[in-house]
Amino acid sequence: SIVYLNGDFIPAAEARISPMDRGFLFGDGIYEVIPSYNGRFVGFKPHIARMQDGLAQLSIDPGLSLADWQALCQRLLADNNGENGANQAVYIQVSRGTDTKRNHAFPANIKATVFAYAFPIAAEPLADKSKATTYNVVTGQDLRWQRCHIKSTSLLGNVLHYQQGYASGAQEILLFDKDGNLTEGAAVNVFVIKDGVIATPPLSNKLLPGITRLLLLNILRKHSNIVVEERDISEQEVFAADEIWLTSSSKEIAPVLKVNEHTVGTGEVGDVWLAAQQLFSVHKYDE
Ligand code: PLP
Repeated sequence: SIVYLNGDFIPAAEARISPMDRGFLFGDGIYEVIPSYNGRFVGFKPHIARMQDGLAQLSIDPGLSLADWQALCQRLLADNNGENGANQAVYIQVSRGTDTKRNHAFPANIKATVFAYAFPIAAEPLADKSKATTYNVVTGQDLRWQRCHIKSTSLLGNVLHYQQGYASGAQEILLFDKDGNLTEGAAVNVFVIKDGVIATPPLSNKLLPGITRLLLLNILRKHSNIVVEERDISEQEVFAADEIWLTSSSKEIAPVLKVNEHTVGTGEVGDVWLAAQQLFSVHKYDE
């Protein structure tokens, strides 16, 4: 495959990054994953805006504009279409760059390392109850840091939580803060549905501002009469929910059927999910 590294489009086997890169030594960087289907990106602008925002918070400036990112990502799709097929996601990672020594302080005058590659993804999720990929999850205390709104490449906290769920036989984990409020999953945002009302935790330093979350909220508010709330959600509400969904760029809206040993709602994919995924499938390219 062809990857992008610091200005060049090169075969993946030729891409080289120094072990002195701060992305490797410190996880000092930001990443992004943008899905595309048949050459069309989902949420391209908000994905790039979130990345630019994260980079600004870390004072990393790769010097690329939205138009530059657009050209770069479109070229990766085009160059890898033959190998990956029509559905590809682009992974972007920008680190602070390569230093001559390992030193915590930001070095002066180093250039950011910019890496991006395209990889194949499954066909777009369908708004069809019988075809939905469903999830079983467990619950746990959120033990990550207090800057979860930054899409940092320092993912050890998330990796450990993901593994915690995986080791319990689940495919995700719902995390709760020390006050008992839901934050998110290891790699997903979470929605809870009760009596036809959709709720999701409000944005804060405790969770990633997911682009699927953003698109879904915008679409529901613009194209449906379903009540949507951004508010604190207790563990009790999670267990009393009619439906629970996980959202991410790769999953879109994924129904959860089991939390620990507890069956969610009727134990089947719900009607609100169907309505939401239908609207999402139609309008996800709007932004
Ligand atoms: N929360 C975390 C911790 C994530 O890593 C991700 C994405 O992988 C999400 C939420 C969902 O974000 P998005 O919808 O932008 O993919």
